[in-house]
Formats: sequence, structure tokens, C-alpha cells
Amino acid sequence: SQIKQVDFVKSSSKAKDCPKDGLPEFAMLGRSNVGKSSLINSLVRKKEVALTSKKPGKTQLINHFLVNKSWYIVDLPGYGFANAPDAARMDWSSFTKGYFLNRETLVSVLLLVDASIPPRKIDLDCANWLGRNNIPMTFVFTKCDKSKASKGNRPDKNIKDFQELIRKNYREPPPWIMTSSVTGLGRDELLLHMSQLRNF
Ligand code: GDP
Repeated sequence: SQIKQVDFVKSSSKAKDCPKDGLPEFAMLGRSNVGKSSLINSLVRKKEVALTSKKPGKTQLINHFLVNKSWYIVDLPGYGFANAPDAARMDWSSFTKGYFLNRETLVSVLLLVDASIPPRKIDLDCANWLGRNNIPMTFVFTKCDKSKASKGNRPDKNIKDFQELIRKNYREPPPWIMTSSVTGLGRDELLLHMSQLRNF
């Protein structure tokens, strides 16, 4: 399940412009600053791969990276920019929702959620939308190495709270993995999970 080769294939501005070779793909999604670039870099062990546009208002693209010439990691634009103009938020939702609803080769969305902070509305909204639309997904909790025990704000509690808050929108509780790009926690588990879903 290890990653031996990664090739950037293309950036697309619409779901219909994405690669049409039928290879399976995993879409990585999360709030800006959730740790998505760090996680992608830790998965591929390469520094220069995740080249996402982080600035609000800039053109937001769907980036396809071909892994081992056989499947894709798709880097989607981050949501929830604190200072984004309303127009940029609207763009994000119509364009990314189009991708989720129309992409037949999508094996699973990996929804990244920061485990070092209590559940946020924007992440819950996103998780609930995916659940209500029956889009296959896996929760990938990031920054699990961070703990602020003094505030009673521990990753395991945040994760449990998050799952309870979204439960009613899912038929089955989605799989979830705890990760840290600092310690490498969950890296192999996530790679194995993706390989099992591809071969299912
Ligand atoms: P992105 O905007 O989602 O691509 O987030 P980045 O990967 O750029 O990370 C945002 C910030 O969180 C940076 O300051 C990272 O150093 C930090 N960060 C990312 N992953 C982790 C992690 O697993 N643990 C800790 N402690 N910090 C992290």
C-alpha cells in the first residue's frame, strides 16, 4: 500500500474537465489550515507535491495526482476561509458539490477534520451534506498530536463529540482514522485503508 511514485496530472476548474481514464480516486477535503498539505506530504514523503492555491479569491482548482500510475489523490480547494468574500464561498460550494455528485470514479472522500479543536459548524455542515447525499467518506482527524489538556480540549474528546454531532445524517457511521503529520500517526493505517477500498 506504500506510495512509490506520484505524478501531477492536471488542474481542473470543473468536474467535467477531470481525467477520464476511469482510475479510482480519493478526494481530500477540509477547512483551510486543517493540515491537508502536511498530510499529503507525509503520505507521499515528498515536499513539493501539494501545490494548492491557498488564497481566497484566487481560482480554485481540482488537482489530480496520479499515484503508482494506478489511482489518484485529488486535492480539492479548502473551504471556510475566514476572510473570503461571499462570492468565493459560493464558488466553492457549487463547483465542489458538482464534483462530488458527478464523479463516478470517486472511491471515497477523505474529510479532514482538525482534532485539536472542538467541532466547528463549517466542518459539521460539510460532513452532514456528504452524509445526506450518500457520498462515501472517511473522516481523517488531523493534528492528533496536539493537546491542550488544561482546557479539557483533547483530541479524543473532540473526535467523539464530532461523531455524535453528525451521526443522524449517516446510515452507517463512516470509518475514521486519527493522524498526525508531526508524529506519523495514522499514516500507514490511512494508506492501508485506501488500498482496501480500492480493491473492494
Ligand atoms: P492546509 O491549509 O490544510 O494545507 O494546512 P497545512 O498543511 O499548511 O497546515 C496548517 C498548519 O497546521 C501549519 O502551521 C502546520 O505546521 C500545522 N500542522 C499541520 N499538520 C499538523 C499536525 O499533524 N500536527 C500539528 N501539531 N500541526 C500540524
